[in-house]
Amino acid sequence: MTSLTVDYEFDWGGRIKSWRAIEKMTIPLLECFEKAGAKATFFVSGETVESTKPFLKMIANAGHEIASHGFNHNLRYDLLTKEELLNEIVRSKGVLEEATGNEIIGFRTPQFRKNQWTEEVLTELGFLYDSSSVNTSLAGRYKERQYEYGLLPQIPVSTIYGRFPAGTKWINILGKKIDPHEHKVIYLHPFDSMSIKETLNSYRKEIPLSVLAFYLTRFGSILKTVEHLSKDSVTLASTVRKSI
Ligand SMILES: [Zn+2]
Repeated sequence: MTSLTVDYEFDWGGRIKSWRAIEKMTIPLLECFEKAGAKATFFVSGETVESTKPFLKMIANAGHEIASHGFNHNLRYDLLTKEELLNEIVRSKGVLEEATGNEIIGFRTPQFRKNQWTEEVLTELGFLYDSSSVNTSLAGRYKERQYEYGLLPQIPVSTIYGRFPAGTKWINILGKKIDPHEHKVIYLHPFDSMSIKETLNSYRKEIPLSVLAFYLTRFGSILKTVEHLSKDSVTLASTVRKSI
């Protein structure tokens, strides 16, 4: 079983407050999923909602899951107090529920940064699962099982070679050597699904060359990779609801 998850945020992880990649890539991604009969989970950053409502409606109407990716993507969620975290997540859940008309039950923290309050806050707010870690033994923010207290189901992102987060960009560089999990959880962003040419055309002037160069080391078309991986993709919500 596979679940494709899309981290849906302002360009380049909020480094630029524009939504060019969302405008360019939402429809191609939805077409990819539709072709494969796939359902995906979109972790949507609350601060993008006001600008991208028509796209969110499109995503929800196509039967994909909308989940929360916090509100302000640039904040260090690992450094927030319990109250600050609660405010951010309440705000995110509120705008997403208003925009889609659906209950929001899943969460992924921005930049995979959890702290000792994350799970408690999610439980208090009625979330049913958290996908804020990566299934790796590497130290640092990706490490699985940190700040986990068993309060709600955890669905970590899978890894390639047991080390690298299973993002489509990494899959294009390193191949599909994903741990033989029962449940493969893969992630991508609209901005890293653009072609190399589109990426250069859209961001050459704003993104430091070193960052751009790193992103452009990938090979081939991310959309082709997405299409290939989409075949048996189901939403995270459907897997959690089945196991309750
Ligand atoms: Zn993100």
